[in-house]
Amino acid sequence: MAFSFIEPALQQRQSEHLYRKLNTVQSKQSRYVYINGKQYLNFSSNDYLGLASDPEMIKAWQKGAELYGVGSGGSYLVTGYHQVHHDLTQQLKEWLGLTDLCFFSSGYSANQAMVSLLLNKHDLLIQDKLNHASLMEAGQHSTAKMSRFKHNDLNHLSHLLEKQSQIDNKLVITEGVFSMDGDNSPVTHINRLCKQHDAWLMVDDAHGIGVLGEQGKGSLNAQGMDNTDCEIYMGTFGKALGVGGAFVSGSPQLIDYITNFSKHYIYTTGLSPAMAYCIGEAAKMAQQQQWRRDHLMALIDQFKQLAGQFEIPLMPSNTPIQPVLIGNSETALNVAKCLKEKGIWVTAIRPPTVPENSARLRITLTVNHTKQDITYLAQQLQRAVNANSN
Ligand SMILES: *Cc1c(COP(=O)(O)O)cnc(C)c1O
Repeated sequence: MAFSFIEPALQQRQSEHLYRKLNTVQSKQSRYVYINGKQYLNFSSNDYLGLASDPEMIKAWQKGAELYGVGSGGSYLVTGYHQVHHDLTQQLKEWLGLTDLCFFSSGYSANQAMVSLLLNKHDLLIQDKLNHASLMEAGQHSTAKMSRFKHNDLNHLSHLLEKQSQIDNKLVITEGVFSMDGDNSPVTHINRLCKQHDAWLMVDDAHGIGVLGEQGKGSLNAQGMDNTDCEIYMGTFGKALGVGGAFVSGSPQLIDYITNFSKHYIYTTGLSPAMAYCIGEAAKMAQQQQWRRDHLMALIDQFKQLAGQFEIPLMPSNTPIQPVLIGNSETALNVAKCLKEKGIWVTAIRPPTVPENSARLRITLTVNHTKQDITYLAQQLQRAVNANSN
């Protein structure tokens, strides 16, 4: 029978407590989410700066639609690149200190695009083991050789680079902030190793932009670097900026090459102009409204302090991503269920998204939370973790 693998694959997922299904959110992305008619405190959102449903942002989207329309009407090279895309490009260059950039419909697509565009059969891709699925999958589909280095392990990376020094085109990819762990990569050191070995460095800063660094300029800035210090700096608009879409930045020549040769870039409809206008508003708010980062950092400090006091097994992280390590997938689901009963929405992240036996609750804090929310979260976590430990 054709495609007979589908049914047993789904059954296996269920029996391993790894089955997933959608939850319909019946409210705006904010401090609370409404799911199945119930209200929960939302500790499962990447809307770190609280921009996704900010009234100013909603107004900006409406204004963008009035000024520029809702659809771009074409791919970028045909009629889909509007004045608003050009203006947004200039604004992002100024804010983030970039030389040139181009847009992609999503971070997923941007990552696929860069790997498939730059690497061929005789080339080498080196990635951190904990890189995002979009990067891993891109590497698996590429004809280039892929090596993975142990998470944030400079010695291992150095060893891989030395061992394969005869290869001309080497691309190292890491993340500014790791999406399931919340920790940072040592980008300054990785960058130095890359320069020593004539390899290019690409940094995916999906979770760093808007949150880290001076004026929210991201992970590199937070570690004393410029965003142009790596050859490719990639960011998304769907997390801290609260909207959607992504960009890739690099030298004018690299962007020229993408524009001419990247199928992911060329054969897709341009970002909605209304959305591009709204992303511009988000970038302005992220850059100028330091109070958002200050409040977020105060909440992170408070949560880490309470977790220490309550002996909650937090993973090391100084970002809004604060995972609680559980290990077993079924236990993680049970703890998440206990918290839901107390009106707290957290997501249990299980393999294959994270390595075997490292199921966790991926708790994310946002500007929308109050100090009281954090205290309540810590208390309920302590209770739920204890109730499910054996
Ligand atoms: C979310 C994420 C992406 C994908 O970005 P989308 O715009 O959501 O497709 C890529 N890389 C990392 C590290 C991410 O966390």
